[in-house]
Amino acid sequence: MKKVKIRREDLAPGACLCDHCTGKCCRYFSVPIETPTTWDDFDAVRWYLAHGRTLVYVEKGTWYLLVMTRCQYLSKDDRCQIYWSRPKICREYTTADCEYDDDWIFEQVFETPAQIWEYAEAILPPRRRKRSKTHLPAIALSTPGQAE
Ligand code: SF4
Ligand code: SF4
Repeated sequence: MKKVKIRREDLAPGACLCDHCTGKCCRYFSVPIETPTTWDDFDAVRWYLAHGRTLVYVEKGTWYLLVMTRCQYLSKDDRCQIYWSRPKICREYTTADCEYDDDWIFEQVFETPAQIWEYAEAILPPRRRKRSKTHLPAIALSTPGQAE
């Protein structure tokens, strides 16, 4: 049966908001990551974003990696199939402050490798290029017949 999306404030007393949702919170996960400060750090973030269906966002100074992937326990009708033994993180999550009707607005968000690289270029000093292994030191050459 197709779910009817209602506004949070129109929910009848005692009714469950999840009954009107498509399991929005079960279709991604996000984890905090170290704040990138070096070219290598930003290179790692670039790699996360190269995989697609990923976002890196910043909220209150903390950086997060978000991966859009549906939980394997979410049923076709958007119910948790392991409700009574679901992970702690799910048990502690409530409808009181969930993203049911949020549009996912972040303080800062990066969606593509190009975006994070552009940001790194704006805030970091220029990258130092490693010397090529084939680079030979400069030596003075004398032409044939030239006195030493
Ligand atoms: S907790 Fe919120 S986002 Fe998650 S299924 Fe329920 S209403 Fe949807
Ligand atoms: S275990 Fe259940 S509540 Fe937790 S993310 Fe998966 S479907 Fe959602």
